[in-house]
Amino acid sequence: MSTRYSRQELFTPIGAEGQKKIRQAKIFILGAGALGSSAGEMLVRAGVGQVTIVDRDIIEWTNLHRQQLYTEQDVVDQLPKAVAAKQRLAAINSDVEVKGQVVDVTPDNVLNMIEGYDVILDATDNMETRLIVNDAALKLNIPFFMGACVGSYGLTFPIGIEKNQPCLHCLLEMMPLQTMTCDTVGVISPIVVTTAARQVADVLKYITGNPLTPALVSADVWSGDRASIDVRSLKKELCPSCSASAVYPFLTAKHSMQTAVLCGRDTVQLSWPKSRPFELAAVAVSLRGTVSKMVYNPHLLACEYGNHRLVLFRDGRMLVHGTKDIVVAKKIAAELLG
Ligand SMILES: [Zn+2]
Repeated sequence: MSTRYSRQELFTPIGAEGQKKIRQAKIFILGAGALGSSAGEMLVRAGVGQVTIVDRDIIEWTNLHRQQLYTEQDVVDQLPKAVAAKQRLAAINSDVEVKGQVVDVTPDNVLNMIEGYDVILDATDNMETRLIVNDAALKLNIPFFMGACVGSYGLTFPIGIEKNQPCLHCLLEMMPLQTMTCDTVGVISPIVVTTAARQVADVLKYITGNPLTPALVSADVWSGDRASIDVRSLKKELCPSCSASAVYPFLTAKHSMQTAVLCGRDTVQLSWPKSRPFELAAVAVSLRGTVSKMVYNPHLLACEYGNHRLVLFRDGRMLVHGTKDIVVAKKIAAELLG
């Protein structure tokens, strides 16, 4: 075991001292999909001290071509991604303390979730969540390593590295990818691995004290195009998220049911406010005569209802598959849960 990291330590910018710093690092991975799988595996193999990986979704057949931690059996078992990812990552390296959390990151819970971590790695699939975490990371002074990809194109941008650099909110209007989703243009695994590799390289540079530039780097693995843009001049002096008078607008919670149309799937997510929780065991009993193909385990309840597949999670969320229409999803929720 003492030689486990020897090849990494032989790499001069890391060395034995760098390896000690890697060992002490606590990493929060936002999302256990494609980027989270790839980056999580690299960081755990590198020997970081602690990894927490969070995700709100379960594993599906359409994930397997690019989400490298998962197997066909995970799909059959309908495991939440954070549960399967935790099991796999812990098996890869028992030196690392790995936690998996099946939860949706919201303005209500984000600060508690990320507090105490050295680094946040972005592996989410939507800008809404990124902006919440951008605000929370800036508020708590934790570097946030953004990454995103669709099709054969991906980009990375480390936030909170330098005092006078822009944040995601500053750059929002110039961010590409916003009008494209995995739903419309698909995604291939080489850009996932390339994007995650760049994020992890930046994380390793940061935690080992090597120089790191807050550049917006984009790459297209199909065309071979690459660009690195110095965006420091684009910081907005009055940015509500990163200026001296920041108010962190994306941390403002609404106390009603939250809805989201999920990227890459014909799916709507409904999240109940904490003031109106539901108990899965009781729901399983009440739905027994109404729905079909019910699967109930400690993490979730899945079933079919009409043309829709539904998945209810213990933390108060329901995924309604087979629609992008929030009204249709809410109607189903009202019909089944009142
Ligand atoms: Zn900003």
